[in-house]
Amino acid sequence: MRLSDAQIEELNARADLGALAAQFGATLRKSGRNLIGSCPLCGGGKRATRFEIKDNGALWLCAVCAEGGDALALVQKARGGDFRAAVEFLGGAASLSAEDEARLARKRAAEQEKREKAAAFFRAQEIARAQKLWDHAELFGREGVESYLRGRGCLLPGTADIRGARAVPYFHGETVDELGRRSPRVLMRGPAMVSAVRDNDGAFCAVHVTYLDASLTRKAKVSDPDGGEALPAKKVRGAKAGGHIVLRLPEDPKRLFLGEGIETVLSVATALKREGRMRGSDAFWSAVDLGNLGGKAVSSVAHPTLKTPGGKAQRVPGAEPDFSAPGIALPPCVTELVLLGDGDSDAFTTGLAMQRAAARYARPGLSIRIVMAPAGLDFNDLLVSAASAQSKEHAA
Ligand SMILES: [Zn+2]
Repeated sequence: MRLSDAQIEELNARADLGALAAQFGATLRKSGRNLIGSCPLCGGGKRATRFEIKDNGALWLCAVCAEGGDALALVQKARGGDFRAAVEFLGGAASLSAEDEARLARKRAAEQEKREKAAAFFRAQEIARAQKLWDHAELFGREGVESYLRGRGCLLPGTADIRGARAVPYFHGETVDELGRRSPRVLMRGPAMVSAVRDNDGAFCAVHVTYLDASLTRKAKVSDPDGGEALPAKKVRGAKAGGHIVLRLPEDPKRLFLGEGIETVLSVATALKREGRMRGSDAFWSAVDLGNLGGKAVSSVAHPTLKTPGGKAQRVPGAEPDFSAPGIALPPCVTELVLLGDGDSDAFTTGLAMQRAAARYARPGLSIRIVMAPAGLDFNDLLVSAASAQSKEHAA
């Protein structure tokens, strides 16, 4: 069965995505102009706000299982079955006149342009906000950051793209004033380790913030005043996709260590330095998070054990990289890549992200090694236990 773009579009426009998602088990509520809620495919994680229907009901996506698309895609993913079955499920394709086809094509082009403009505007605005935070943070110098990292057993290389900042606002939720105007709510202001996330050209694209407690030796404990739920001490603002944080970057890097978090990668750098195994040409980058380390996947796969609240297999990003999405590019002079995988996240998901990364970065003349921390541990745990074993030896 071959359908024209206009027929597919007409069919999708006829379908009600919100009603479809609900029919497949999602619980949804309004959020601004979008619908958010639990995912009909994976359940959507602990807080059921990661599934979203946007673009005036034209598009759905889930931030947990990384699936998304139009109504036809939702029907195929939720019910199984092929494209033809999904078309029939939605009531079959309409026969369209040449005029209809042309009208729908014009509409499609106009909508696409509008979407792209809006996305570019939003992205630029987010980057500008992040840049403002990075540029105007009142700095407290390296000592504060060093004291936090020392608490984690890590050294801070001189070339790290990291600053210590006072009174960085922590945004969570919204406040509504007496006129009903909504604005982001500042939960607190506190000291933070702020790191620049840079794109492949070295341009600033996002800021990574680790909130610290007043002693500057630990991460801050942040909780939601409504309900007391613990909130993350780390936040990213801007456009992080395909970006990285430079932790150590020599002039002509030959070996690059690429891992998920800042502390993970610095733990490995610190261990190598202490053992005298760090080379002058070694570079260390954080990929900000696991998803960014492996980049976007072409498709998702069923998790062997994790289940959604609905009892279906949890879907996680697969091993094959989607090269059309933005991804980290390695410096051309790098000949050795060491991918660092923590053992304290889900092993199946982490393993796939590492395979995806290895496939993404493969090129002639580059050797790639995947190093996994033992199950249940991250590289920082290893560093801290090694250091305490050493100090016990000294004491003995
Ligand atoms: Zn999902």
